[in-house]
Amino acid sequence: MKALTPLPVEQIPETLARAQALARPDSWADVLVVGAGPTGMACAIEAQKAGFKAIVIDKGCLVNSIYHYPTNMVFFTTPELLEIGDIPFTTALAKPTRLEALEYYRRVAEHFHLHIRQYEWVKTITGEDRNFRVTTTNRHDAIHDYRARKIVVATGYYDLANQLEIPGEDLDKVSHYYREPHPYFDTDVVVIGGKNSAAEAALDLWRHGARITLVHRGAQMHDHVKYWVRPDIENRIRSGEITAHFNSTVQEIGADYVALRTPSGPLRLKNDFVFALTGYHPDYDFLRSVGIELSPEQMRPVCDPENLESNVPGIYVAGVIVAGSRTNEIFIENGRFHGKLIAAHLSEQLGGGNQNLPLDAT
Ligand SMILES: Cc1cc2nc3c(=O)[nH]c(=O)nc-3n(C[C@H](O)[C@H](O)[C@H](O)COP(=O)(O)OP(=O)(O)OC[C@H]3O[C@@H](n4cnc5c(N)ncnc54)[C@H](O)[C@@H]3O)c2cc1C
Repeated sequence: MKALTPLPVEQIPETLARAQALARPDSWADVLVVGAGPTGMACAIEAQKAGFKAIVIDKGCLVNSIYHYPTNMVFFTTPELLEIGDIPFTTALAKPTRLEALEYYRRVAEHFHLHIRQYEWVKTITGEDRNFRVTTTNRHDAIHDYRARKIVVATGYYDLANQLEIPGEDLDKVSHYYREPHPYFDTDVVVIGGKNSAAEAALDLWRHGARITLVHRGAQMHDHVKYWVRPDIENRIRSGEITAHFNSTVQEIGADYVALRTPSGPLRLKNDFVFALTGYHPDYDFLRSVGIELSPEQMRPVCDPENLESNVPGIYVAGVIVAGSRTNEIFIENGRFHGKLIAAHLSEQLGGGNQNLPLDAT
């Protein structure tokens, strides 16, 4: 009979109870930050400046959300308001492009020698204040364990799109993310939504030869549409270059059509592609899984506003997730300051920096 050999820890399925891997020098930290968005980076930088060892883990690449924004996107914020770690961000024009922002955050990560583990998905956080265990899986489904005294959760909101919950939403032709216009030249495209993402996608697609129908449940484009985009979209609608149905909803998406409910009755349109740009929300299940309580209506994590420590001692929340479902309240401009608040509290709690002794791995 073949002799049984124990599986290497990395190959043990995460669903099975298993021994934890021993802590390695590169797998423990004073502070482990979940999410390498602008906020997570700012938290790691400020923790490092205060003398703590920080590790940042992201399931995608550095600033994964920004990477996935529309290819030719221009920020509504001027560059100095996107700065982290007091590193200047200068751009050729008044507003940074997505490409310039990617370049900036890469340079900042290099400048501070941040310990960033890309393409590792944080699955579980267990343990207690000053002795947390964090388990991740990488792209090859290998499991990694980390130990940390404190945790910062800065997981953003862009990974989970608000669903329409209508038949056909799962068809390949439907997307909740818009990247670029070229594939949609000379096709019939429906854009659902009335805020910036929908307005900008509709204009970009129209300018590159797609036939656009915009469907929005509100009576007009939303007030938050960028002041320079709003007249552009409204003029295109007024002139009939973009067809818009307000006070309307998409009821069903078929292979080559969409069915709408409009104030003048049901409407069936020939259709090739649908962009449902109706917003995104934080991963509430992940927050709950680590014990963080959410407010009943707006799903805001329970936390101390002074230092952002959640109801779970030693676990902090940072960035847009602090606003729960009100994702337009916190963005890079204001979320980037969360790092300083948390670092100040870490110093109080851990007694200043240079606590970089490996944790006991028992
Ligand atoms: C099209 C668009 C344009 C915008 N323009 C602006 C602007 O001009 N100015 C502005 O201030 N804001 C803007 N925003 C909003 C801003 O980008 C977000 O508010 C900001 O990215 C939030 O930062 P964050 O660090 O909290 O989250 P994110 O940037 O979303 O970062 C969260 C990170 O966590 C990672 N993650 C999530 N779950 C896990 C997990 N379990 N394990 C490991 N990693 C995980 C994600 O991969 C991601 O990299 C814009 C948003 C959009 C959609």
